[in-house]
Amino acid sequence: RLSKVFKHPNSSIPYTEKTSSNNMVNLMVVGQQGMGKSTFVNTLFQNEILKTGIDFKNEYFDSGSIIAKKRIFQEYSDPLNEDTPTTTSIQKTYVMLEEANVNLKLCIIDTPGFGDFSDNSFSWVPICEYIDAQYTDYMFNEEQPYRDLLVDSRVHCCLYFINATNKGLTALDVISMQEISKRVNLVPVIAKSDGLTRSEIVNFKKDIKETIRVQNIKICDLLLGGDCGDDDYDYPFGVVGGQYYEDRQTFGRKYRHGFVDVMDERVSDFLKLRKFLVEEKTLDLIEKTSMYYEEWRDKLCLFRYK
Ligand code: GDP
Ligand code: MG
Repeated sequence: RLSKVFKHPNSSIPYTEKTSSNNMVNLMVVGQQGMGKSTFVNTLFQNEILKTGIDFKNEYFDSGSIIAKKRIFQEYSDPLNEDTPTTTSIQKTYVMLEEANVNLKLCIIDTPGFGDFSDNSFSWVPICEYIDAQYTDYMFNEEQPYRDLLVDSRVHCCLYFINATNKGLTALDVISMQEISKRVNLVPVIAKSDGLTRSEIVNFKKDIKETIRVQNIKICDLLLGGDCGDDDYDYPFGVVGGQYYEDRQTFGRKYRHGFVDVMDERVSDFLKLRKFLVEEKTLDLIEKTSMYYEEWRDKLCLFRYK
């Protein structure tokens, strides 16, 4: 296994112990339900951190009886029922990652409900509102006398999960990515890339890159390499998420026709993305966030004083 991960018994509470780096990274995952976001997060940290689709399904669809179905229908159709999500919601889970050279506190920000309704035209709004609210918080906290105590809840990176349909980005993808990328480091990923053949994934990546260019989506520029002689990453990362198999001592997916190891670079860019997030660019992501934050502050001033 790659790392040791600690999940707080009550993982809705952040870690406060000081670690060597004392950095806290806030990582957001956005994408429609069933795209494999939770599975990906669990694979990333080699641990069961978020509940995945299988568990959820069992909760609601454990019995095929009409009564059970009726209950589900009522739950999902009654707008006054408080448990029924009617919009994109935000869920935070705190973890600590310990490895030979990495010591990180992380907050995983999940966004259940994104794109799951009959009208999804504004699914991205609650996400952007959340991002902006963290900037507002940070701005007020910055002015306080004890800056040491400042908790940085700004979103440092947003992974946007693209459906591996081989048909390019949807209108919802485009508008969401445009809006999110104005605010934070946006890293596009192709979900469940095990579903695409080699040539399909190559073409799909090319298509997406083209749309990103044409639609003026400002993805995280750490992906682009550039002047510093940095490596440029082969975005969007195609990812495969899986579960731990004792017999193989690795994370993967068991199909009827065989086994895929998520670390296998022929099927998945998982290792590259993991390196990008928790090894190579972690500090850069935090630094860039400050630039996004300054931009946001500038806009705020324009808005108020013009
Ligand atoms: P979420 O709603 O985006 O959090 O999706 P989940 O992580 O709950 O996964 C939904 C379903 O997709 C589960 O049955 C997973 O086993 C499956 N899944 C997750 N990742 C992958 C993947 O990379 N490839 C394939 N084929 N299926 C996946
Ligand atoms: Mg999930």
